[in-house]
Amino acid sequence: MSTHDPDCIFCKIIAGQIPSKRVYEDEDLLVFHDIHPWAPVHFLMVPKTHIASMAQLTPEHERLMGRMMVLAPKLALEQGCNPYPDGGFRMVCNTGTEGGQEVRHLHVHIMGGPRPWLRG
Ligand code: AMP
Ligand code: ZN
Repeated sequence: MSTHDPDCIFCKIIAGQIPSKRVYEDEDLLVFHDIHPWAPVHFLMVPKTHIASMAQLTPEHERLMGRMMVLAPKLALEQGCNPYPDGGFRMVCNTGTEGGQEVRHLHVHIMGGPRPWLRG
């Protein structure tokens, strides 16, 4: 079942209440550019349903999380990451305060492109 948190910035982006530069969308997932990129390519993949973080995942999310993993390399190339092995990309999923998570809606960062990067 899909849930929406009216106080969540990424739920607002999913609902179209806050603008974003969209990269990909389907029934379950939204992908959009990070507003403060660390790398020449930097986008975020989010489930459309509100899941606060990886700490809330249950076996029912296996397919959703698997889809993100399989989609990431395709979108990375489409967005301008160079091909593996000399190119590639970095996937980061910050979880909780000590994990560096600021937005409490599960998201995967995908970063790539020529070095040096601002961070990461
Ligand atoms: P994290 O520290 O993993 O929670 O990262 C949250 C990320 O969301 C940061 O890299 C922010 O730049 C990004 N972010 C915050 N607000 C927006 C927004 N309105 N549109 C796109 N990215 C955003
Ligand atoms: Zn949310």
